[in-house]
Amino acid sequence: MAVAPQTALQQAVTDLMPLAAKIFDEVRSASRDIEGVTRPAWSVQDQAAGDILLQVAQQQGLTTHVDAVGNTYATLPGRDEGAPRVVSGSHLDSVSRGGNFDGLAGAVAAVIALAALRQAGLVPACSLSAMGTRCEESVWFGIAYVGARLAVGAMERPEFDALVRLDSGGSIAAHMADLGLEVEAIWRQRPIINAANTKAFLELHIEQGPLLIERKTPLGIATAIRGNLRYGDAVCRGAYQHSAATPRRLRQDTVLAVAELLRRLEDLWHGIEDGDDPSAVFTVGKLFTDPENHALTKVPGKCRFSLNFGSTKQDTLDRFDRALAAAADEIAQRRRVHFDLGAAVGSSPTPLEPTLREALNASAERLGIPAIPFATVGHDASVFARAGIPAAVLLVRNGQGSHNPHETMEMEDFEQGVQVLAATMFDLAEV
Ligand SMILES: [Zn+2]
Repeated sequence: MAVAPQTALQQAVTDLMPLAAKIFDEVRSASRDIEGVTRPAWSVQDQAAGDILLQVAQQQGLTTHVDAVGNTYATLPGRDEGAPRVVSGSHLDSVSRGGNFDGLAGAVAAVIALAALRQAGLVPACSLSAMGTRCEESVWFGIAYVGARLAVGAMERPEFDALVRLDSGGSIAAHMADLGLEVEAIWRQRPIINAANTKAFLELHIEQGPLLIERKTPLGIATAIRGNLRYGDAVCRGAYQHSAATPRRLRQDTVLAVAELLRRLEDLWHGIEDGDDPSAVFTVGKLFTDPENHALTKVPGKCRFSLNFGSTKQDTLDRFDRALAAAADEIAQRRRVHFDLGAAVGSSPTPLEPTLREALNASAERLGIPAIPFATVGHDASVFARAGIPAAVLLVRNGQGSHNPHETMEMEDFEQGVQVLAATMFDLAEV
């Protein structure tokens, strides 16, 4: 593998950091809300984010274009422009009143990485593209990864045609057309991105958990993207009974039944997490009795709850599901209640490409930048990976999580991420 002349490239990345900070500020100003930022996909706000990035890219001597979906691209042409490209990027849109860096950090990082390579006078073997994807968060349409899915041809027309804004009912096609996009071209050109024209997709993203802060490490290299298994509206039904007059053996107490079920699932989770799957997570996001009927003096006859299991291993998700069914059956019989878990929804885990993870790790080591491996949550990268395009995710230290205005990514950490990204993109072009 060829090694980029690091000093020139490193210096160029450092020199470009004020420009990166300016992009973040400009996009923030263009999408400011009462609190944080709001950039719905195919709104004037995420359009502005894309326009700002494309303008900077042009000023930096990169070629730019926008695909039929509205995804933006800035490209540093390679020696062989017809060869499959290396693409990096992330989403331009945000959640409602979210943080400025979730998504945008990856879109900016890719443009800055290419600008730095160009400033350093490096011509890669294949073309390198910085992509800004539309509609990963999808506050308007409620379905994630729309821009990336359309780009790789992983969304069929009936699903697309049925997508309407949750609040206004306006169609997705109408919103795209309002921004001057030729929607029909999506279907003529599909897939816009595939394994034949793209050899790798790298996504830089802020970490949405607290691990890098805890480990005092600037970067993470994702091992895989967790899948999940979710029961969003489970209910336990028993009987409302007098709290003082009903002996234990005759009670049909749903709260204690659910509590026992959750206790068992938590014990199982601890065992799995301490054992062979540290990526396992388990969350009970909702748990409540019926306010119309519950009372201090009643045995609770109904309890609603949600279950959300996550893991990078399908085997772990299956294990949780089997244990849940067995425990629910046993507890229901013994406690004289009935569990109705409702329909399960979920997504399968997405492995990330080992050779790309190794390439990111090699760059970080060579640059002396600490980076640790761990599992991550869903990102656009999963869509590319499922489409057969080797994909990897580089995580940047960030406090306070994301999807809120209080993200704390430091520009020093962002710079380290761009250093690793730029070096890796160049190296991947050579192999
Ligand atoms: Zn994101």
